[in-house]
Amino acid sequence: MDRQFRAILIGKTEKGQKLDFVTLSETDLMPGDVTVAVEHSTVNYKDGLAVTGRAPIIRHYPLIPGIDFAGSVVESSHRLIKAGDRVILNGWGVGEGHHGGYAGLARVKGDWLVAVPDTMTTAQTMAIGTAGYTAMLCIIALERQGVRPEDGEILVTGAAGGVGSIAIAVLSKLGFKVAASTGRPEEEPFLKSLGATTIIDRNEFSGPVKALGKMRFAGAVDAVGSTTLANVLSQILPEGTVAACGLAQGMDLPASVAPFILRGVKLIGINSVTASLTRRVEAWSRLAHDLDLAKLKELTSHARLDDVPALAGEIIAGKIRGRVVIDL
Ligand code: NDP
Repeated sequence: MDRQFRAILIGKTEKGQKLDFVTLSETDLMPGDVTVAVEHSTVNYKDGLAVTGRAPIIRHYPLIPGIDFAGSVVESSHRLIKAGDRVILNGWGVGEGHHGGYAGLARVKGDWLVAVPDTMTTAQTMAIGTAGYTAMLCIIALERQGVRPEDGEILVTGAAGGVGSIAIAVLSKLGFKVAASTGRPEEEPFLKSLGATTIIDRNEFSGPVKALGKMRFAGAVDAVGSTTLANVLSQILPEGTVAACGLAQGMDLPASVAPFILRGVKLIGINSVTASLTRRVEAWSRLAHDLDLAKLKELTSHARLDDVPALAGEIIAGKIRGRVVIDL
């Protein structure tokens, strides 16, 4: 059966790229051994860059963007996946070089898919999305480096965004005291409701970088990069760890080696896109266990496919609070 579905398609133009809402058929999809009826997608920072064309994320034109989706399998020749299974896709170049989640139907490699945890709906998995799954990878990294709640406060930068808000919710459920760095003071009640106990103006981390600052945090989840990450490193307690996953402020890192060589501070990089299936399954099972679904609901809003272009601009402008689920 050649099923038809609605999708966003990004094409290349002389000036850059153009976006159209189109109706496609199954035969337009790229090769893969599993076809999924997409129920929900989401808008991550990378989706914002891809849809607006602000960074060269899209590597193949025309392309259906959307780096995440969740839905039900309609056809599968993968040995472990069968029709009716509920699955999640995060990353793997989907929405960059392979048709993505802003469509009613997607076809991908079964090896890229993770099962939806039994306790979650597909909508809840997209409320988490790549941003939340990356926040979990960051927290697992802190734990692997031995960071414990009794060691001191954990700083979360880009706190009101997707990675930040989910990191706060999970860290607080795990018993950590959480400091939230934000440029949106009006979000203090929201950040406190997620579990943050200290709210810090992000400008505190945007000034000149000191080689060594006042020791304040046992660890940090950083979604911002640049001067912020450099200042955060200078304020980590001896033997503490920073998990760095983002570049919302910039890709540079104007830091000193002093925190590393004089305080034994560790900087761990997080890449969610090509993380192994084992690490993904671990992260999703931890999210099922360690993320309060009532808090997830509080940080989530819902929108339609038609809203994606506007939301893409908003996420790049740092205006989206928490996470947005796109209902297909
Ligand atoms: P969001 O836009 O939802 O959150 C980013 C937050 O960063 C904003 O809400 C804002 O928080 C803060 N921010 C934005 N601009 C600036 C600035 N100029 N200076 C300081 N802070 C700023 O994005 P996501 O949470 O989806 O993603 C966050 C980052 O993580 C992105 O860079 C993204 O590319 C990266 N990422 C990386 C992954 C990986 O695998 N390594 C996977 C997922 C995301 P506030 O308003 O509270 O200050």
